[in-house]
Amino acid sequence: MHKPSDILVDSMGRKHNYLRISLTEKCNLRCSYCMPAEGLPLMPKKHLMTREEIFRLAQVFVKHGVDKIRLTGGEPLVRKDFTPILQDLSTLPIDLTLTTNAVLVDRYIDPLKSCGVRSLNVSLDTLQEDKFLTITKRDAFKKTLQNIQLLIREGFHLKLNVVLMKGFNDNEIIDFISLTKALPIALRFIEFMPFHGNKWDKSQLVTQKEILQTAAHHFGAGQLFPLEIEANATAKNYKIAGHKGSFGIISSVSNPFCDTCNRIRLTADGKIKNCLFSNDELDLLTPLRENTFSETLISDVISRKKSVRGGMTSFEALNDPKNHSQNRSMLAIGG
Ligand code: SAM
Ligand code: SF4
Repeated sequence: MHKPSDILVDSMGRKHNYLRISLTEKCNLRCSYCMPAEGLPLMPKKHLMTREEIFRLAQVFVKHGVDKIRLTGGEPLVRKDFTPILQDLSTLPIDLTLTTNAVLVDRYIDPLKSCGVRSLNVSLDTLQEDKFLTITKRDAFKKTLQNIQLLIREGFHLKLNVVLMKGFNDNEIIDFISLTKALPIALRFIEFMPFHGNKWDKSQLVTQKEILQTAAHHFGAGQLFPLEIEANATAKNYKIAGHKGSFGIISSVSNPFCDTCNRIRLTADGKIKNCLFSNDELDLLTPLRENTFSETLISDVISRKKSVRGGMTSFEALNDPKNHSQNRSMLAIGG
């Protein structure tokens, strides 16, 4: 028998107190690195967790020590019952937050505030309108920028996620860092990761070293200050002298943060996933619906968690498409 606090601790002693719940696979954008080129067949609605099921599963995780929940997707704000889901979860003793492309966020300012959401992660991969259209296939650049400004005005703390791809937006590194001069945002450059159907190739990777060299070359090495690393952080953060905001690098590919990982994921169809890079998923929703749900299911999947990147310890293993051909895209997993 597991003690209540034990089922979220894996064989390496990592305690999983941070749950990311994907609310939907649907999205109002079509980012090329996220959405497979051939599109994604949507699953029937009955396969998705309902509002009530999301809350029931969240309660189980919170009982066992989860104290932070992030809603994601797909785009979490396209879900029609987003506000009631948020309201349910806000009754739990957790830090509640979300990751969004911000296109619809102006409709949700009041519920976000009343449910205690203080900080949001927003994704924006380019500061150029034509490139935004190329990458997302949707004409929503102005709306996204307006909504980012609205969130800042309304007092939310923003992390701005930028997936860097060589030859596409790596020439905007300085433009993005320059935003932190006047804006109090935490900018995070994310290394492009391989998933089923996203045609990942390591030549497109912009590494931590290259980003820092570019920043040091432009702003001066003496103007670049590393910030203290927070517990369980995925980003190494820096500040340019005199800037209000900071910038960081999430190097899941070239320099993973697996040894302090505290994250678990619940997909929109109710599968628990112990690692973003792993093909290993376990269905919690069917047992929940059939009244055969047991907390042992959760401890089993946590205890199977590999030490590094779903077992792909070397860069060669990561570079082999066979190893991630079964791993669903970020859209399906919930980034
Ligand atoms: N739609 C929301 C958004 O875009 O913020 C939430 C879901 S999205 C899947 C979550 C995060 O995953 C985004 O910041 C996105 O940039 C990131 N992401 C998606 N595919 C990725 C990939 N192949 N490599 C790195 N990051 C990726
Ligand atoms: Fe949609 Fe976010 Fe994926 Fe872009 S990254 S397609 S906004 S889920």
